[in-house]
Amino acid sequence: MQLNKLYTALFHCFLLIGLVQFGCQDKPEEKDADPQIDSALVANTIKTLSDDSFEGRMPFTPGGKKAISYLETTFKEIGLSPGNGDSYLQEVPMVEITSMPDEKMKISGKNGNFELTYLDEYVAGTERPVEEINIENSELVFAGFGIVAPEYNWNDYEGLDVKGKTVIVLVNDPGFGMGDTTFFKGNTMTYYGRWTYKYEEAARQGAEGVLIVHDTRPASYPWAVVRNGFSGAQLHLIAPEGTYKCGFQGWIGLEQAMELTKAAGIESFMAEAKKEDFKPIPMGMSVSFKMKNKLQKNSSNNVVGMLPGTDKKDEYIIYSAHWDHLGIGAPVDGDSIMNGAVDNASGTGALVGIAKAFKDLPNPASRSIVFIALTAEEQGLLGSAYYAENPIFPPKQTVANINMDAMNHLGRMKDFTIIGYGQSELEDVAEEFAKKQGRYIVPDEHPGAGYFFRSDHFNFAKIGIPALYGKGGLDHIEKGKEWGEAQYQEHRAKNYHRPSDEFTMDVWDNSGIMEDTQLLFEVGLKIANDGSYPKWKEGSEFKAIREGE
Ligand SMILES: [Zn+2]
Repeated sequence: MQLNKLYTALFHCFLLIGLVQFGCQDKPEEKDADPQIDSALVANTIKTLSDDSFEGRMPFTPGGKKAISYLETTFKEIGLSPGNGDSYLQEVPMVEITSMPDEKMKISGKNGNFELTYLDEYVAGTERPVEEINIENSELVFAGFGIVAPEYNWNDYEGLDVKGKTVIVLVNDPGFGMGDTTFFKGNTMTYYGRWTYKYEEAARQGAEGVLIVHDTRPASYPWAVVRNGFSGAQLHLIAPEGTYKCGFQGWIGLEQAMELTKAAGIESFMAEAKKEDFKPIPMGMSVSFKMKNKLQKNSSNNVVGMLPGTDKKDEYIIYSAHWDHLGIGAPVDGDSIMNGAVDNASGTGALVGIAKAFKDLPNPASRSIVFIALTAEEQGLLGSAYYAENPIFPPKQTVANINMDAMNHLGRMKDFTIIGYGQSELEDVAEEFAKKQGRYIVPDEHPGAGYFFRSDHFNFAKIGIPALYGKGGLDHIEKGKEWGEAQYQEHRAKNYHRPSDEFTMDVWDNSGIMEDTQLLFEVGLKIANDGSYPKWKEGSEFKAIREGE
């Protein structure tokens, strides 16, 4: 791949020229007495972490280890104290399972015989740490959305003994596309709509296997994301002894699902699944295939640094951003390194920039500020899940989490988006500083994508810590909203979780990242000094956890 390397190197040269230009144009008139974020430090961190030499920052790999030591060194250089006793590292023990399923998944029975091709038509893996999984004639059942939600009086598994069987379930939840915001929050995805939930519920029910039907619109990402994200090495936290996991879990393509359900005599499986009286439908077919698994127990690290507070040093504000990405995948146009520049070298760059800004304050903040670069987000928010199960700082004394993931790389925006708008009072603080920048707040423009459940702040929220996840929106300061939306869609379709998510993308403009980083710094700085305890808002599913009701 010499040619490709040369190509990348050329782009880096152009980029450097670009950066110098941005640096010069970076609103010099606003450089007043306010503490500022070091834009060169942020840009350099993003550029470094997303360089090919980090090989896509997959935990355990040399590239992943390189990212950990780079961040540890950076935290030290900035002057942060170790965040975990006398160490900058929190060990996160995991098992890496590389499943190699048969080329063909065989489905057969009285309603027909089918073969699905691995990667093109199905993907499958397992969380069982065993070397071989042999699925033999596991009966297929269509289980709607695969949801058990007592608060909506909804149970897709009702009356079904699913032991030894394989369920086919739909992505998202029944509220999607129904035009009723009180029914599963309408188009806003609930946690029930997430693939993680589908796997968890199928395991709780004791299913042998679970296959989610991919559909680009309700899933909010194309098949390529499934193909890249759910094949190859997968990481899991080591589950406590006796925890049941499905024999296999995976996805099938929409067309294949249509064929199978049609053969099973299910007229329109989407419509069927949305019926309030939906009952699981046995499909008259069973699935067989084998999977060889390569197992490797290993551990990765969250990198934790802190700046002790003064008079309220036992109260904490945690900034977080995941450092990991997807490593090396199938080549696309000759490039196989998933550089993850937007996702999430950008957030890690912001984390480093904010840490430096706090360190450079003439007077340290009253509360302690913690900076965590988290591992294994891409594999199911594992670094933050581990932190939430093994918190270093008491959750009750943790005032807020401010998370940064996939910052806005398209330049300055007039709007600032709050993901999961309406959750906590942290939003009001964010609004105050957005206004100061002459910007306005918008709720997530794509609530159907379920982003509130798709980054690490969710695991902080799950243990009650008020969490803020916000970033520049789509209303570009010069090019407007339509342009922003078009760019967003293009990025989702072409670069998200693909080798082309690179710092060398010609649309990359660091000025939006800088503005958002400044905003998030100011939000944390205010809370660090004003003694307030921002609360979850009325109606938030996390309020009761925080307030111990
Ligand atoms: Zn990602």
